[in-house]
Amino acid sequence: MTIFKRRGEIADMLAKIEAIRNKIEIADSLNDPLFKQCRTEGLLLDISKVYRHIRIALPEHVCPWCGGKGCSDCRTTGMVSPYVWGMAPEQLKKDLLKRA
Ligand SMILES: [Zn+2]
Repeated sequence: MTIFKRRGEIADMLAKIEAIRNKIEIADSLNDPLFKQCRTEGLLLDISKVYRHIRIALPEHVCPWCGGKGCSDCRTTGMVSPYVWGMAPEQLKKDLLKRA
């Protein structure tokens, strides 16, 4: 699974987004004049949205729908993120783990 080896790229991006979000939250709480022209409430919501979009790309589990062969649910990668894994039916996950 080539993309599994590259999961650090996504993890790094998520960490950077998290750092930006934390910095803006601190600036907002301190009423930092550097960010006065930002609408920090909306900005934080947008950052959270970007975080969630990228988080879906994190390859963490073998796709429970296709067992790693590639399908429309994993967009042919054979891998899914923890978020997508959490949405999969429990029986599919149990069946996949039995095959492992
Ligand atoms: Zn799949």
